[in-house]
Amino acid sequence: MTSQKGRLIIVAGPSGTGKGTVENAIMAKFPEIQFSVSVTTRPRRDYEIEGQHYFFISKADFLQRIERDELVEWQEVYSKNGHYYGTLRSYVDSALEQGKQLLIDIDIKGGINLKKAYPDHSVSIFIEPPSLEALEQRLINRNTDSPEQIRIRLDRMPEEMLLGKQFDYTIVNSELNEAVNAFTEILENEMHQQQRSI
Ligand code: 5GP
Repeated sequence: MTSQKGRLIIVAGPSGTGKGTVENAIMAKFPEIQFSVSVTTRPRRDYEIEGQHYFFISKADFLQRIERDELVEWQEVYSKNGHYYGTLRSYVDSALEQGKQLLIDIDIKGGINLKKAYPDHSVSIFIEPPSLEALEQRLINRNTDSPEQIRIRLDRMPEEMLLGKQFDYTIVNSELNEAVNAFTEILENEMHQQQRSI
């Protein structure tokens, strides 16, 4: 591994596991870790800022970028009305060249593909719920999904947990502080490994 380069911290997990909360806590704790901004065709939410949360682009623009091979990975995310999400190759490459650490919030299959594209400059972390029951309760409390959508999400869990085995690390998010500590340990562990390989 070339230590001069930066690192991709790839984070994925079934929706409702609270990965966003863990990620925000990690970025607050480590200001040097920068959020990776993806491109998407989904409409911007009120609180979101162009270029900070996502680059919001049209479907035609997205398809052209696929054609021009500008995306290192992309997915059509069905749970989001079939909107497209993708990681810009130039964005990731320039961050790595500058020695930055990028935190990439991504869907599970996208995370696996990204890890394959940057095997030596990435660590992949799968965030899972403590149990199916806990996930169901979180989805009910979140109040953003209909009972039918919740059922669909829960039915997908076994397959998602299987895909999760392809990640370098798994964190069970039952309690935020514990999850953040486990995440911190992973980052420290990775840093030591990187130093040993210089
Ligand atoms: P949201 O619309 O809630 O921001 O994100 C929906 C899903 O798309 C989440 O699972 C998120 O991790 C995923 N996602 C965000 N950016 C990317 C990306 O660049 N590539 C892929 N494959 N998934 C992404």
